Amino acid sequence: MTAISLEFFPPKTDKQRAQFESALPQLRKLDPDYASVTFGAGGSTLSYTPQTVKALMNAGLDGAPHLSCMGGTRAEIAALLDDYKAMGCRRLVALRGDTPSGMAGPGDFTYASELVAFIREYAGDHFHIEVACYPETHPQADDALADLRHFKHKVECGANGAITQYFFNPDAYFRFVDDARKAGIEVPIVPGIMPISNFTQLKRFSDTCGAEIPRWIVKRMQAYYDDVESVRALGADIVAEMCRRLLDGGAPGLHMYTLNRAVATMAVVERLN
Ligand code: FAD
Repeated sequence: MTAISLEFFPPKTDKQRAQFESALPQLRKLDPDYASVTFGAGGSTLSYTPQTVKALMNAGLDGAPHLSCMGGTRAEIAALLDDYKAMGCRRLVALRGDTPSGMAGPGDFTYASELVAFIREYAGDHFHIEVACYPETHPQADDALADLRHFKHKVECGANGAITQYFFNPDAYFRFVDDARKAGIEVPIVPGIMPISNFTQLKRFSDTCGAEIPRWIVKRMQAYYDDVESVRALGADIVAEMCRRLLDGGAPGLHMYTLNRAVATMAVVERLN
């Protein structure tokens, strides 16, 4: 049985809430190990993550909040950790986060490693901590080796596991895991999987977060233009095939970026089974 985790974002508008509520019962059927909730930059979005984690826990899932350096000062992050402890959370995803301007955030921490170290200092071993890593290298890293060193440092600061940025090239994942093992990083590295539904949106997003979409996929998708069904079917085939290769090659599980939609994620998992 493949270990699957799901990622959601906190719905903020009525439309997003309706989408989340309709996707949740279907995605729940995948019996995920845990369901994580992203954390947006900026104070006004702070309360949405705990609310969404609560909704997932009420639905019987193991809710895992993301927490970023944009979460504010040490005191504010400590208060959030207390809240999550009180809610029964045992797992966090600790990140640096991005500001819309790309500048340093408002908080006390600059890098995710500092946040991980603080969580360990403040909450001991209460939380299982996941961090992010980048098979195709983080876009702001000096180079791939520097990025790997920084990843290793997050683990040394107390991370228990890592989830990758999404990618569409399994060889990048296998090479990255090999490099990590050679560098002495021993934690599980779970591939982050982005199901394809809206290709135009995905392409735009991928350009900013540094995930490469192979040319052959771009060309095939562009040929379908606005034929949504064909884009979805091809997307599910491509992503499912990649997941199969990843699992056969030793990936310890799959972390699905659901974008609060069930159809594309379910299509991938159904093909896998
Ligand atoms: P870091 O590990 O701090 O690394 C950021 C950059 O700094 C890298 O280039 C790294 O090489 C470099 N670096 C690290 N340490 C040092 C150092 N000591 N000196 C110099 N350079 C250093 N974003 C959100 O806002 N909210 C979310 O909920 C969220 N969830 C995510 C979940 C996953 C699984 C992933 C993969 C990403 C997520 N992101 C989220 C995006 C993430 O915040 C961005 O990719 C961000 O730019 C980097 O975050 P990080 O935690 O990897 O940062």
